[in-house]
Amino acid sequence: SDQLLEVSNLKKYYPIQAGLIRRTIGHVKAIDNVSFQIGYGETLGIVGESGCGKSTLGRMIMRVLEPTEGTILFDQQDITKMHGKTLRRTRRNFQMVFQDPYASLNPKMMVADIIAEPLLINDIMNRKEASEKVNQLIDLVGLRQKDLRKYPHEFSGGQRQRIGIARALSLSPKLIVADEAVSALDVSIQAQILNLMTELKKEFNLSYMFISHNLSVVKHISNRVGVMYLGHLVEIGDKDSLYQEPLHPYTKALLSSSPHAKRGVKREKIILQGEVPSPANPPQGCPFHTRCPQVMEVCKSVRPQLQEIVPGHSAACHLYETAGVSL
Ligand code: SF4
Ligand code: MG
Repeated sequence: SDQLLEVSNLKKYYPIQAGLIRRTIGHVKAIDNVSFQIGYGETLGIVGESGCGKSTLGRMIMRVLEPTEGTILFDQQDITKMHGKTLRRTRRNFQMVFQDPYASLNPKMMVADIIAEPLLINDIMNRKEASEKVNQLIDLVGLRQKDLRKYPHEFSGGQRQRIGIARALSLSPKLIVADEAVSALDVSIQAQILNLMTELKKEFNLSYMFISHNLSVVKHISNRVGVMYLGHLVEIGDKDSLYQEPLHPYTKALLSSSPHAKRGVKREKIILQGEVPSPANPPQGCPFHTRCPQVMEVCKSVRPQLQEIVPGHSAACHLYETAGVSL
């Protein structure tokens, strides 16, 4: 297989309980039947508005959140039900980079110790080896040796994110899940961090799952992009195909309101009506049908399946079903 990560039919349902005996009266469907792959050395961007489930998805991939159903294959190994020591050992291969590096860096630790900690906790190296590795890592992320003796509060947001990346890289992971990793940074700093991540990816053949609400950020770094709406993956495809020829009406609307929409391509702004429905009470049929400008009768009762429409580009929408396939 040329896939590092293969996710099939992943679900995360939270029971809604009521009454003294906490009877389950329904489920919040935070992630509903999501499948995708990430190849070796590939960056998959995941976009969607807040609350669409993208962070939940990332945390399940990281195995910090149990899936309700479905399977996660990492490097051909089923990690869905992995626990204890085996999980800890495997988890070295996937690391996370967070939105707010300040919250994820211990303020009382020197940078050298912050970066070395995963190596020492996992008993991978002794102190001397770890300190050599830390020296390499600080160079790799574009900071200076003398920064190693400083504390997180002495750095700017962008520098702190470099420290977070160095720490994530310390265990030589194969996959990095970055959740809104540059969203808290100024635009010019965002570009620097994205460029750094792209260089590191090439150097170490890393794969990224890059989660963001920001379409232009995702476009900058991704090879392929998936679009989520209400816990569903509604479209996924090669970046150029997705940004230039979006298929799903929701993706079209998102792109039409993105300030960085492609220059020269005149795209009419699509204003979506209504609110995103509650995942506790999702619509029947297509999850987007309550807001879709192209809704048809079939959309209200039949859930469209993700299917390849053009090579390397799939969407879950009845508009693309050939006659006879749909109702
Ligand atoms: Fe719109 Fe129907 Fe396609 Fe859903 S399936 S996006 S409601 S056209
Ligand atoms: Mg989030």
